[in-house]
Amino acid sequence: MLNILDIQTKLVEAALPSGYERPCGELLAELARPYCDEMWFTPTGSLVCHKKGEGKKLMFAAHMDIIGLIVTNINDKGYISFTNIGGHNPAALIHTTVRFENGIRGVIKLKNQGDWSEKAASAITLPDLYIDIAATSREEAESMVKVGDLAMFDSKPALVGDDCLMGPYCDDLCSCIVLLMAMEQLGETTSDLYFVFTVQEEVGLKGAITSTACIEPHFGIAIDVCPTGDDPSAGMDIPVAVGKGPTVKIKDMSVICSPKMVTFMQVTAEENGIPYQNEIILGGGTDTAGIMHTGKGAQAGCMSIPCRNIHSPCELVSIRDMENGAKLIAACAMATL
Ligand SMILES: [Zn+2]
Repeated sequence: MLNILDIQTKLVEAALPSGYERPCGELLAELARPYCDEMWFTPTGSLVCHKKGEGKKLMFAAHMDIIGLIVTNINDKGYISFTNIGGHNPAALIHTTVRFENGIRGVIKLKNQGDWSEKAASAITLPDLYIDIAATSREEAESMVKVGDLAMFDSKPALVGDDCLMGPYCDDLCSCIVLLMAMEQLGETTSDLYFVFTVQEEVGLKGAITSTACIEPHFGIAIDVCPTGDDPSAGMDIPVAVGKGPTVKIKDMSVICSPKMVTFMQVTAEENGIPYQNEIILGGGTDTAGIMHTGKGAQAGCMSIPCRNIHSPCELVSIRDMENGAKLIAACAMATL
C-alpha cells in the first residue's frame, strides 16, 4: 500500500513548473514500473505507462506539471522580478515564501506597499511584486539566482484534521498518486490501458493533446482536482465538498463530458459501492478537453478530487477521497467499455 503523505512529499520535492517536468516524470516512472508492461516518454515529455489488453484503448491522464514562477530580471539592489508559469492570483502571492530549484529561499513582496492601501486587490499585477532573497546588491543576488531560474511555493505537505492532506501542488500531484494507487489495485482487464502523466496542463492541456495524438484512445478519463462550494472562501455555488467522495465531472469551462463516460463512471461507482459527487464547475478546465478534441476525437470524462485553496501553497484534499478515487479508476479500468 502506497503511503500518500510520503509520496506526495517526494513528488513535491521533485516537481517543477510546466515545461520542466522530467525529474517528476523519472520519479513517477520508478513508482509505476511494477504495475505496467511497458513505459515511455512522449517527445514533449509526458510519461505513458501501458498495460496491454485485447479490448479498446482507454487512456487515463493526470498532469505532473505544477504552476510556478520564473525570474525575468534582477535589479541593482538585488530584488528579483518574475513572471508566472500557469495561473496565479497576484494579490494572494504577497508574503508567500518561495524556493528556487537550487534551494535558495525568498519571500514575495509588494512594491510601494503603502500606496496600495486604498486600492482593490484585483488591481495588483505580477509586475507590482518582487522576490526578496535577502541580497543587498545585484552581484550578491546573481551569485544565488539568475534570469530563467524557477521558483516554487516553499511549503510542505502535512496531515490535518482526521483525514486531510494540506500543502502545495495537490493540483495535480495528488491525482498522480491516485493513478499509481489505481494501477496497484488492477486485476484482470480487457481494455488496452494507458496511464499517462501529462506535461504542461497548466499552460493549455498540451501534454494531454500530444499524448492523445500518440495513443489514439477510444476513451479517456482525466483525473484532476476541482474547486468546492463547502467553505466561506469558495465563491462557487456548487454542492461539491471535501470528504464526500471523488467527483464525476459533467461539465467545466473547457469541456462537456461525453454522456456515455459520465454514465459509465456513475454506474461503475454505484456497482462498486464507491461514494461520488456529480460535478459542474463554473470556471477552469482539465486534460479532459485535450483528450476529447485531439485528432479524430475520443469520448472523454473526468474524475476530480475536491480541493480547497486551489493554486495556493496550502491546497487541501481528503485522503479518503483519494483512496475512493483510486478505487473508482481501477474499477473503470477493469470494467468493459
Ligand atoms: Zn490541475
